[in-house]
Amino acid sequence: MTIEIWREMAILGKKLVDAGLTTSRFGNMSIRSGDLILITETGSMLDQIDERQIVDVDLTQTCLKDALASTETCVHRAIYLRTNAKAVIHTHPPYSIALSLLEEGSINPVDSEGMHFLGEIPIVYGIFGTEKLAENVSLALLNHKSCIARGHGVFSQGESLKDAYTMTCISEHSAKIKYLVKMFEKISSVKAT
Ligand SMILES: [Zn+2]
Repeated sequence: MTIEIWREMAILGKKLVDAGLTTSRFGNMSIRSGDLILITETGSMLDQIDERQIVDVDLTQTCLKDALASTETCVHRAIYLRTNAKAVIHTHPPYSIALSLLEEGSINPVDSEGMHFLGEIPIVYGIFGTEKLAENVSLALLNHKSCIARGHGVFSQGESLKDAYTMTCISEHSAKIKYLVKMFEKISSVKAT
C-alpha cells in the first residue's frame, strides 16, 4: 500500500469526525485497488488511522482477512462489484439518520447543492453487516452518489476518497437543511391551529 493512500484516509477520517459526520468509533472507508479492496479494519478509530489499520481484502469474494476488516466489508464489496465506484465512505451522520426515520423511500434535498449534486438520496433497509444491506445499498448506488441505511447511516461513493467525502458532506448538509425546514413548518402549523 502506498503511503499516500493511508495518509489520505487518515486526513479524511479526522475531517469526518471533527465535522460531526460520524463518531470516531463508527464508520469505515475503502478504495478499490486492482483486484483488492483497501479498507479500514474493524474497530479502528476514524480520526486515528495509520497504515496498520488498513486491511487488503479480495475484491471478488470473501477471504480470511475479512475477519480483520470492517464489519461492513460485504457492503463495500457489493458496491464495487455492482457499480463503477472507486472509493466508498460509510458514516453515521445525525441529521441523515434522523430524517431517514421521518421520510419514506428517499430524501429529496431542498438546498441547491443537494438538488444539483445528489438529486435524491434513497433510503434503504437491511441490518448492518448483512448481505441484504449489501444488496440494497449497492443497487441504490448504481444511480446515486449517496444513500442512507434507515436508522443507521450514509454510504457514499465516488471516483476517489475525496469525492466520496464530498458526497457525504453534501448528503448530511441536505438532510440538516431539510430537517430544519420540516421542523419549522411543523412548529408554524401548530401555532396556526
Ligand atoms: Zn454503520
